[in-house]
Amino acid sequence: MSGAPSIDTGWRHTALTLCRRRGIVPLTDEPLSRHGTWRIGGPADVLIEPRAWEQVSALLRYADVNGIPALVIGKGSNLLFDDQGVRGIVIVIGRSLARIAVQGTVVQVEAGTSASRLARITAVAGLSGLEHIVGIPGTLGGLVVMNGGSLRQAIGDAITEVRTMDRRGDAHVYRREECDFAYRQSRFQREDRIVTGVTLALTSGNRRAILSQMREILRERRRKFPLTLPSCGSVFKGDAQLLRKFGPPGAVIESLGFKGTRLGDAVVSPLHANFIVNAGAARARDVLALVRLIRQRAFETLGHTLTCEAKRVRPDAQIRPLDEAI
Ligand SMILES: Cc1cc2nc3c(=O)[nH]c(=O)nc-3n(C[C@H](O)[C@H](O)[C@H](O)COP(=O)(O)OP(=O)(O)OC[C@H]3O[C@@H](n4cnc5c(N)ncnc54)[C@H](O)[C@@H]3O)c2cc1C
Repeated sequence: MSGAPSIDTGWRHTALTLCRRRGIVPLTDEPLSRHGTWRIGGPADVLIEPRAWEQVSALLRYADVNGIPALVIGKGSNLLFDDQGVRGIVIVIGRSLARIAVQGTVVQVEAGTSASRLARITAVAGLSGLEHIVGIPGTLGGLVVMNGGSLRQAIGDAITEVRTMDRRGDAHVYRREECDFAYRQSRFQREDRIVTGVTLALTSGNRRAILSQMREILRERRRKFPLTLPSCGSVFKGDAQLLRKFGPPGAVIESLGFKGTRLGDAVVSPLHANFIVNAGAARARDVLALVRLIRQRAFETLGHTLTCEAKRVRPDAQIRPLDEAI
């Protein structure tokens, strides 16, 4: 295992005892490559997938009081984990925290719900507004933090309320206007809040038409994206200035001659240049070196600074933009 030694093994013993007392099954030295779609990353000291929100709040409080780095993730589909892993606790919000309740056109969803499952359930209920999230491989929590979506839409468009908890386990609710949703941005990237659930306001539609539109979106995604190799989706943002002056990031990176460029097993996809795929045993440092090369050439050739949509998880459990300090 390539990971650095734990910050202190004493805390780990106490953390494991706390988990067992609460019926939580912890994993130790768990490879983060198993918990992200890039399949990259060294071990987490402790990784836990809680089965109840009370378990999440207990873990967060324990980490907070004891000064232990703790990180909350969903499916890790927008994250590059460090080759050294994480010295601390990684909390995965997943399938056990994924209830959905549909009442007319209003839908309450827990953060661990997968985006594609939510899209399918609302479509079958004859509700329109989430067609664009079908095929996105993340959880609703990750989608809200990233304000993700496709086809120039974002999850924030359909949200009326976001429910969160802080590191002490206290609940805070935000109305949509308070969430600062913008292109791939939300206040939850700045503020330390765990998203527990959201309320969505959708519109009634024709079930068959909605399902047919989703099938078409999935077909297009399979045609355009390299889905057979591990990746985190789009690496760079298609911000308004880039789109206006030069076009979408994939086309820009292709025009700079990067399609197929390889560092170790990290490869700029020959199908879509805004994807960096893992062709086998790519390391985080290969991906970061490729990102650096692309940004340098974009700046030298176009005078434009590319920014990243994907985030990097440092060994101290801090999340940073992939391009920070590159
Ligand atoms: C093949 C592929 C295609 C993709 N296509 C798209 C696309 O079309 N559109 C798009 O927007 N994205 C796309 N993505 C990126 C990614 O799927 C989205 O950003 C997704 O919303 C991330 O969700 P996640 O659960 O994986 O979050 P993670 O990657 O696990 O986390 C992302 C961020 O959210 C935080 N987070 C996660 N859950 C919570 C929570 N409950 N509370 C607080 N913080 C939380 C994490 O700490 C991190 O900062 C794609 C990725 C892949 C691999």
